[in-house]
Amino acid sequence: MRAGEGPDRRELFLSVLSGTPSEDIPVFLRDLTLGLDALDVNTDEVFGPEYNAKLSAACVLELQRRIGHDAVVGSIHTYSLEAFGGTTVYPAKGIPYMSDPPFADLDSMERYVPEDICDRLMEGMRESYRIVRKKAPHLAEIMNVGGPVNTAGNLRGLETLMMDVILNPDVVSGLMAFSEGVIRSTAEYIGTDCADALFLAAASDNPDMLGLEEYKRISLPHVKSITEFCHGMGLPVIFHPHGLFSTGDRRDVLKASLDTGVDGFQFAEDNTPEGILKETRGKCCVMGGLDAFNVLLLGPDERIVRSVDSVLDVLFGEDYIMTCSCSVNRGMPLDNVKTMVDAARAYCGRSS
Ligand SMILES: [Zn+2]
Repeated sequence: MRAGEGPDRRELFLSVLSGTPSEDIPVFLRDLTLGLDALDVNTDEVFGPEYNAKLSAACVLELQRRIGHDAVVGSIHTYSLEAFGGTTVYPAKGIPYMSDPPFADLDSMERYVPEDICDRLMEGMRESYRIVRKKAPHLAEIMNVGGPVNTAGNLRGLETLMMDVILNPDVVSGLMAFSEGVIRSTAEYIGTDCADALFLAAASDNPDMLGLEEYKRISLPHVKSITEFCHGMGLPVIFHPHGLFSTGDRRDVLKASLDTGVDGFQFAEDNTPEGILKETRGKCCVMGGLDAFNVLLLGPDERIVRSVDSVLDVLFGEDYIMTCSCSVNRGMPLDNVKTMVDAARAYCGRSS
C-alpha cells in the first residue's frame, strides 16, 4: 500500500498521536477556513444569520478530497466568542475576526457564564462535525479551540489583557478561570460525540510574549487542568503554543509544557525539530514543520519540496504527525498545500 492510502486514516492518526510512530506519516492541515476556497464560497455564506452546517461540511470534505490529508477540523472555524457580546466581522473573502472584544468592559463578564458559549453558532459548528463524521468516518476530526490565554485575550482584548497581567493579577485570574470554563464547555459540547482530539490553538500562550515565569504560572496550570478534563472524556489533547521552545535555554519551559500531560505538541515558526525532539521523545507526539507564511504561502514548489525533505530528514521515524507551523486559512494557495502533502507522501514512499 502506498503512503497516504489505506482504509482507516483516523485509526492511524490516533495511533501516532498516542505514541506509536509510523513510516506512513499522517497529515493534518489544521484547516480552519481554507475549505471555503475549495468550493469558492464566501465566508458570510457559512456565517450567515444561521451557521450553514451543510455548506461548512461540504467545504471541509471538498478540501480533503483535493489534498488528501488524514485529519480535518470538522467545521469552517471561527474563534468568535459572540455568545458573550462584542462584534465579530465576517468579510466575504476574508477570515472572521473580532473587532470589539466582549469583555473590554469588565462589568460585561458578570452577565455571562462560560456555558453560554454553547449557542446557536456552536450548535451549527457541531452539526458540521456530525455531517463530516457521517460522510467520512475514516478521517480523524480535530476540534480547534483557543488555548487558555488565547481565549482570555480574545475575550478581553489582547493588549488590555497584557496590561492586566502587569497591573491587575486578580482580574487575570478571573478571566483565566472563565476561559478554562469556555474551553471545557466547548470540549464537552463538540467532543462528546463528534471529535477525536482537542487542539489548543495557543498563539498567546506564549513565553516570549508573557515572560517565561508568567507563561508557566498563568497558562500551564489551565492547560493541565483542561488536559485532565479531556482525558476523562477519552479525548487526547494537542497543544500549540507560539514562541521559542527548541533552544537549550528553553528546555525547562518545553518540559513544563509537556508535563501538563498533553498528547501532542505542535511547534510554531523559528523552532528546530531537533531541539523539540530532545524533550518530546518518548513523551509526546510532535507536530509542526514548514513555515506557514515564508514557505507554504509564498512557495515556490521547489522550495516547498526542499523544506518537506529537510523536515522529514529529522522527523521521519519519530512519533510525528505532519502539519505546517500553524493553521491554514483561506487565501493559502491550494496548489502549495497539495505540493507539501504530495512531497511528504513521496518521502515516506521512498523511505519505508
Ligand atoms: Zn500557530
